[in-house]
Amino acid sequence: MTYHLYESDPYIKSFDATVEKIDGDWILLDQTAFFPGGGGQECDLGSIGGLRVTEVKAEGDHVYHRVPGHTFNPGQRVHGEIDWDRRYELMKGHTGEHILFSSILRESPDIELVKIHISPSKKSLVIKGHVDWSVISKAQKKANEIIMKGLAVTECWLERNEVSTSGIRAKLERITENKIRIIKIDGFDQAACAGIHVRNTAEVNAIFVTKISSAKPIGDFEISFEVGANAMMKSIFFGAIALHASDVIGAQPEHLVNAVENMKHLVTVLKDSLKKHARERLRSLVPERHGPFKIYSGLFESVDRKLLTDEANRFIQEEKTVCIFGSTDERALFILAVNKDVDIDCPGILNKCLSEFGGKGGGQKHFASGGTTDLIHINEVFRNILDEVRFALSQKVANDR
Ligand SMILES: [Zn+2]
Repeated sequence: MTYHLYESDPYIKSFDATVEKIDGDWILLDQTAFFPGGGGQECDLGSIGGLRVTEVKAEGDHVYHRVPGHTFNPGQRVHGEIDWDRRYELMKGHTGEHILFSSILRESPDIELVKIHISPSKKSLVIKGHVDWSVISKAQKKANEIIMKGLAVTECWLERNEVSTSGIRAKLERITENKIRIIKIDGFDQAACAGIHVRNTAEVNAIFVTKISSAKPIGDFEISFEVGANAMMKSIFFGAIALHASDVIGAQPEHLVNAVENMKHLVTVLKDSLKKHARERLRSLVPERHGPFKIYSGLFESVDRKLLTDEANRFIQEEKTVCIFGSTDERALFILAVNKDVDIDCPGILNKCLSEFGGKGGGQKHFASGGTTDLIHINEVFRNILDEVRFALSQKVANDR
């Protein structure tokens, strides 16, 4: 077995050991400071005998180190050094996770921890149950208070039956051993864990939640966070954005969320009202007549494509009817539609008129739509489509005489 130096001293940065076994790139040592990863925390990296350790894994109590290009032999003494910056970041992240989850649990007692991920680039916890920004904000405040209190983080080993009756956070169904390692944050939290932690919560320095996202199907939510200097810098960065946004919309920062929600509601109400108004205008259109043909036309502002399409479809139910609709938003939208008894090439006309102004159209012979980003010339496009249709219809009227 490999003696796990990292368990008795998580702060050990270098060590000497004897090579016990070689298996290709992989070497087994009699003792190691390299944490092989586990429980969601990534393994340590570093060097052995001056060569890069690219991966570390555990098989039972044995810890294997992958050292590509090594020429070690069993019995040889080697010197190992771990990448301390990486390890310390993972220790802070892992301890931060205990503090954060326990703080969320106080706000939302029904949640359950599904898994965690602790690496230099990603720190998150996946939970089952409901959380929202209001819960997370309170929990985050609590977690930072615990960090600032500088509480001791200690480990102890308990018998399985002691753990099951103690109220300690533990996923006993996932643990096979009878002796279980418990990580205790003085007066705040106790959890079964095999990972590596700092000795005092103050070392975490700060914790900042950066994102709440869906974690379906393995859980309900994934909560991403940063610790230490990264947490400070991100909170400063996003804090400034929140203050700037408050200023832009003229709300106090503490009322920003309410103000944005009110604006969102107002936009919905206004859009509904615009839609209602547009529908009334569309329904009161008076057709222009060309012999037996009728042309309904109109250029609107900010009418959505669905409403225009629905109304065009409704108009062309009438025999010998043509519809020409346009609407402008960030781009211009045009619809040209005719009843099946009107022999007009809708996509052809739309393409011809739109291509002059950098746009294009397409669709069926009797129903075409298209657009352009050239908003300056929309009146011209609209007039051109109307003229093309009038010309086509007048030829049909002349032919029928
Ligand atoms: Zn842990």
